[in-house]
Amino acid sequence: MPCISIHLAVAKKYVQEHGGIDNVQEFYNGNVYADLDVGLKAWHKALHFDKDYKQKFVERFKLDTDFNKGMFCHVMTDYLFLAQMNIGDENLKRDLYYTYDVFVKDYMKKEYGITYDMTNYTKEINELIANSQMDTKNAKVILSPKIVDDFIKRTVEAFACLSAFDGS
Ligand SMILES: [Zn+2]
Repeated sequence: MPCISIHLAVAKKYVQEHGGIDNVQEFYNGNVYADLDVGLKAWHKALHFDKDYKQKFVERFKLDTDFNKGMFCHVMTDYLFLAQMNIGDENLKRDLYYTYDVFVKDYMKKEYGITYDMTNYTKEINELIANSQMDTKNAKVILSPKIVDDFIKRTVEAFACLSAFDGS
């Protein structure tokens, strides 16, 4: 569960470097949707540590729209992030998810051109962060920009390898 900005950076970089997405806006929408829809919450959380996430995903959604491809990109990014970052502690997860979005917002905007209005869910994203009751004062900045940059790069490549979108 990397923060929304990181999800959007993966999505944007993927489009820039690999293309193949007709409706970029829908791809971006899909990349944030799983975190916004309460109906998907339990399903999406269960995939966080499931190495069969691709299979589980295609059991529920077809990879036939740019929105669904975006959702799959999100699910894959969550899985890789948790597998690679080694963060077990709940507080750290909280810092990473909510507080980190606040800390990295300027960096992500500057480096990747990421703003929440890239999606149709600007209002929902702002509400999600506002309702998180995050403690920005005591929050720790856990990931350095270098770690974030490296993660985004690796994830874009992993998605390019996986995204043969054949449903298999
Ligand atoms: Zn997620």
